Amino acid sequence: MKKKKLSKQQLRKNQINKDKKFNRITIISFSLLFIMAISILTFYNFGCDTRFLYHKWVWYGNEIPGEWACMNDDNLQLHKTSKVAYKNNDYYFCSQNCFNHLVKNFSKFAIVPDAISGDSINKADALIGLREKGKPELIYFKNKQTFKRYYEKNK
Ligand SMILES: [Zn+2]
Repeated sequence: MKKKKLSKQQLRKNQINKDKKFNRITIISFSLLFIMAISILTFYNFGCDTRFLYHKWVWYGNEIPGEWACMNDDNLQLHKTSKVAYKNNDYYFCSQNCFNHLVKNFSKFAIVPDAISGDSINKADALIGLREKGKPELIYFKNKQTFKRYYEKNK
């Protein structure tokens, strides 16, 4: 009789332990699911901004691909820009307005001084770089030599 009672107690204890384990697993699973959902939502909502922030820091000292630049605003863009052929050269713009503005003021906006030598260069032929780390402003270079010199000077 005593033995039977003990085993009953033992049984109940086992059941409680099982329940505890189940609760723990459930809580962990739901926490993980919640964290995953938040991460995915964050990525979808702020993915472009995160990438933009990354580009502004990591691309300093590297050549910027034209497709990430607006050659009228001279700014790094959040999204890829459109390539437009004009006067046998390819330019990149974030909008039609920017293209129109550059065409209207071609000598001022398409022809710029090299950031180091001051030589006049066409943005379509230039190497593009960031003026400052963490900022979207772009500058243009005639060749790899001036490009390298600028970033050696401004490390
Ligand atoms: Zn633009």
